[in-house]
Formats: sequence, structure tokens, C-alpha cells
Amino acid sequence: MGTYVITGGVSGIGKAIAQQLRSEGHSILTIDIQEADIVADLSSPEGRASAVLAIREMTASGLQGLVACAGIGSHVPNNRLITKVNYFGSVDLVEGLREHLAEHKSAVLMISSNSAPMKTNPTFVESLLNNDGDQACALADEMQGQPVYSGTKQAVTIWMRRNAAAYAAQGIRMNAIGPGYTQTPLSAAVEDDPTYGDAIKQFIASIPVGRPGQPEDMAKAASFLLGEHAGFICGAMLFVDGGHDAMLRPEKF
Ligand code: NAD
Repeated sequence: MGTYVITGGVSGIGKAIAQQLRSEGHSILTIDIQEADIVADLSSPEGRASAVLAIREMTASGLQGLVACAGIGSHVPNNRLITKVNYFGSVDLVEGLREHLAEHKSAVLMISSNSAPMKTNPTFVESLLNNDGDQACALADEMQGQPVYSGTKQAVTIWMRRNAAAYAAQGIRMNAIGPGYTQTPLSAAVEDDPTYGDAIKQFIASIPVGRPGQPEDMAKAASFLLGEHAGFICGAMLFVDGGHDAMLRPEKF
């Protein structure tokens, strides 16, 4: 049994992953902007640095895995904040912990989205991957919320795949899951959004397996990818979306 660190671990998908791993006998440290074991604002470099420091101290004796789950939805009317939390709050944290993760041969799981392949501004994605936060935020100011959201998730996924081999060489096995529509406080807010609400409701009705995702669906996939049964799975993006990605992009895999 080991210790897992989960950002965004007090709500929705992150909370369900924490509960799943606890039920398997693991210890969990949550990181969140409120009510967590480690309270940190992952939208700022200072918040991320304090989280990295606290994780290193609190998991000095072992770290089985890190789940980068904290994120905010396209309903939040602040494209810079979506950019900072969803991309830098995930990638910077993993990068900041790289040596610590290597020391403990940890697994890393990024919580992306099945919206990651959707159309967005490629220059926005490239600026994120170039670690150019100023340019990314300037571009985000000119974009709609949904392409900013999916652009951050696309960049997180590409970053994971570009870095999976180098991390694996250090003993860190890194993967991502792409949740489809999952009933959480985040998705409830998106569903209520006056701009996107109707489109989201149609999207939910079109999920092939005939129901929206539950946080527990994501938690079971996360548990598998983090655990020993997935020991040969590295650099994968697993869509956990009731068949939506297969329906929308059958030739892409
Ligand atoms: P949620 O709102 O229930 O949980 C998100 C958590 O992130 C919250 O606990 C929140 O406090 C935390 N967080 C937000 N800003 C933060 C900050 N600055 N610093 C630290 N923590 C912060 O949402 P959820 O639906 O469980 O989403 C979890 C992840 O799953 C997100 O990355 C989201 O983009 C992704 N996702 C969700 C869905 C869905 O349909 N719910 C679909 C695809 C992907």
C-alpha cells in the first residue's frame, strides 16, 4: 500500500479517485484551493512552488503516484485562470516534482478531457507547450471559453505524450485519462451556462452508452492506470467517455 497525491482531490472526479484509492488501502494527500491536506492555489507559480515543497516533505518516505486533476471549466469567465489552472497547475506541478517522482518510481496520471482533440487555436496550444504563459494568456483573452478549455487539455495531453518516454527512463510511468461528460459540480455549472447549456444537454443525450459518466467511472480507470496491472501502459490517453470519442473520431486513435 502506498501514498497517492491528488490535486483537486476534494471535489468531483478527484474526490472519487481519492475514495477509490482509500478503499484499496492506500493513503491519500489531497491538494486543493480549500479544505485539503495541502491548501495551495495552483493557478500561481507561488502556489505551485508551495505545493511542490509540501508534497516533497509529506511524502519523503514514499510516493506511489500523483494525479493532476484540479481544473476549472469553460463556464468560468476568466480565460487566463482556465489557462493557468488547467495547464500550468498540472504540468508545472509534475515538472516541479520530477526528481522526487523519479526517486520514488511513482506513476503520474493527468486528468485531461475528451474535449482535448477538439478544434482550438493551435498557436495557443503551442505557446503552452513552449511554456510561454504570457503569450498563452494574451491569446486566451481573444478566444471563447470552450476552445481555451479544450486547448489547455490538448496541451496537457501532448505534453504528457511528448514527455512520457523521458519520464519512463527515470522510472516514472505517465498516462492520461480523457473523461467524457461526468456529473460533478464542474459539469453542473457548465450545463447551467446560458451560452453552452443547450449544446451540452444535446451532447449528453448523444453519449453512446446512454448515460452520463459518474466520478466513480473515472476513479476505476484511474485506479487501473496507476496500479501494477497497468505496468506496461505508458504515454496512453484513455478516453473514459461512454463511446463519444469513438463516435466522433472513429479513424483517430
Ligand atoms: P470539480 O469542480 O468537482 O473539481 C475540481 C477541483 O479543482 C475542485 O476541488 C477545485 O477546488 C479544484 N481547483 C480549482 N481551481 C484550483 C486552484 N486554483 N488551485 C487548486 N485547486 C483548484 O470538477 P471535476 O468535474 O471533478 O473536474 C476534475 C477534472 O476533470 C478537471 O481537470 C476537469 O477539467 C476534468 N474533466 C471533467 C469533466 C466533467 O464532465 N466533469 C470532463 C472532462 C474533464
